[in-house]
Amino acid sequence: SRPLIVILGDQLTHDLPVLTGAPENAVVALFEVEEEGRYVPHHPQKIAFLFSAMRHFAHMLRQQGHQVHYTCLDDSDNTQDLISEAERIAGLYDCDDIRVTSPGEWRLFDRIQKRRGNTLPWYMVTDDRFFCSREGFNQWAQGRQRFRMEHFYRWMRRETGLLMDEQNNPQGDQWNFDQNNRKPMPKHLIPPEPPEHQPDSLTREVMTLVETHFGHHFGTLEGFNWPVTRRQALNDLAHFIEHALPFFGDYQDAISDQHPFLYHARLSGALNAGLLRPREVCQAAENAWRDGKVPINSAEGFIRQILGWREYVRGIYWLNMPDYKRRNDLNADRGLPAFYWTGDTDMRCLKRAIEMTRDHAYAHHIQRLMVTGNFALLCGVSPAALCDWYLAVYIDAFEWVELPNTLGMVLYADGGYLGSKPYCASGKYIDRMSDHCQHCRYDVKKSIGEDACPFNSLYWHFLERNEKQLSGNQRMKLIYGSLNKMSDDKRQALREQALRFLDQLEETPAYGQGDHL
Ligand code: FAD
Ligand code: SF4
Repeated sequence: SRPLIVILGDQLTHDLPVLTGAPENAVVALFEVEEEGRYVPHHPQKIAFLFSAMRHFAHMLRQQGHQVHYTCLDDSDNTQDLISEAERIAGLYDCDDIRVTSPGEWRLFDRIQKRRGNTLPWYMVTDDRFFCSREGFNQWAQGRQRFRMEHFYRWMRRETGLLMDEQNNPQGDQWNFDQNNRKPMPKHLIPPEPPEHQPDSLTREVMTLVETHFGHHFGTLEGFNWPVTRRQALNDLAHFIEHALPFFGDYQDAISDQHPFLYHARLSGALNAGLLRPREVCQAAENAWRDGKVPINSAEGFIRQILGWREYVRGIYWLNMPDYKRRNDLNADRGLPAFYWTGDTDMRCLKRAIEMTRDHAYAHHIQRLMVTGNFALLCGVSPAALCDWYLAVYIDAFEWVELPNTLGMVLYADGGYLGSKPYCASGKYIDRMSDHCQHCRYDVKKSIGEDACPFNSLYWHFLERNEKQLSGNQRMKLIYGSLNKMSDDKRQALREQALRFLDQLEETPAYGQGDHL
């Protein structure tokens, strides 16, 4: 018998079990299909990254001696749907079954599961590219009343031995060095430039294709500099460990008006597409610490993002889908502000985060959380509208990781799975962590008046609007104490200021009707 082995666009991992266990006569297939990107207008750099990485991966498989079928986006017989394409190709090569690594996205997983009774059987193989299996996470979650990432993370540290000593205690005698990791960027520090990857002929071909089909989407293709092979991704990893990781911890929460990447790894795209395994990335960070090249707050802070957050959001996603996607616990119902697709706003922090997103398909975590995310939370943007945007615009955006971060961490629409309190903040936080406010037409110290920073009144309006759901939260007691001590006149003035702002905030039409840059 002869199987068709399907490799999805985020499964570009050379030692996937579905590949290493394949019989010699197997056909390996990769498909570029429109159906996968139909719901949101993906950033051209994201599409180019995935198609180019897929084409390079197919090339590598052929060199290894595999028989490979590759469907290009504009092949005339392309059915443009993953499942029908797989079944068509299986027929073409006389295959008896279709094997695929379990998809990362619930929708596709569900569709494949429903095809199992088909004449041509589908088999799903467990994805072994995570530290914690889906079953392992479910067992950890079972019987727990409250989930906290920190508890999960400590368990993962013990399970994997990462940054643990011989007695299985945390290195540095602390699990978490987060209190050291909140410094703003000093003026004199210039972060390292990322390595440059000149697009080769394969990537240039893909860029032309993307320009033709998706050139009207938000985002520029110019300056495309993402790793499209494992070799390039390993190069980025080595560069990060040597040049940026030593400062990663200190400036993890900093925001800069000029520098998009600061000391961040830029590895999420490569990790999520499978070019790197999370274990090798964490191990490289631990080794650098053991060799005395990076401080513990950097190594631990970095490993926590991957071993902790990345695994945790995946676990939450699979534990709760498909209901998770429908959660909207704060009943937020506003459309996305129109300037999220243009950057055309006089709020400097938002303008810069959106411009960096447009130019690089990237913004770092604190921009996503505390600038574009925080603003949407304060305004009451609906989870569906905001999730569509985050899923479209970032190089690393896949639903299993984007949805919990956006719906859960940013919008607090899951009632507190991801965060024990909403990450809401006034302009003061942005001023402390960035140099944006000095370039802004608004005055971050003012809450009322024509030049008052909009974040300030929106912040109080958010708290007032959601008092019923949030004031009982222990971690919000202090801030609700301040709100309740405020005079009625001040509260009234803040409310009016916020409502005036919200009234003139233009919302974006639903996708498909908007004028996406
Ligand atoms: P670094 O800051 O250098 O961190 C190192 C690695 O840790 C990242 O590469 C990533 O793999 C992992 N990581 C860090 N934070 C998180 C997190 N909260 N959840 C999961 N992994 C994390 N990350 C995605 O990979 N895909 C997404 O679609 C995505 N959507 C997000 C949406 C919102 C609203 C927010 C607030 C965060 C989102 N993140 C997402 C998490 C995080 O912002 C990105 O992983 C990070 O900015 C990627 O850049 P980096 O590789 O330079 O990360
Ligand atoms: Fe952003 Fe307000 Fe600062 Fe302007 S003043 S950059 S709107 S926080």
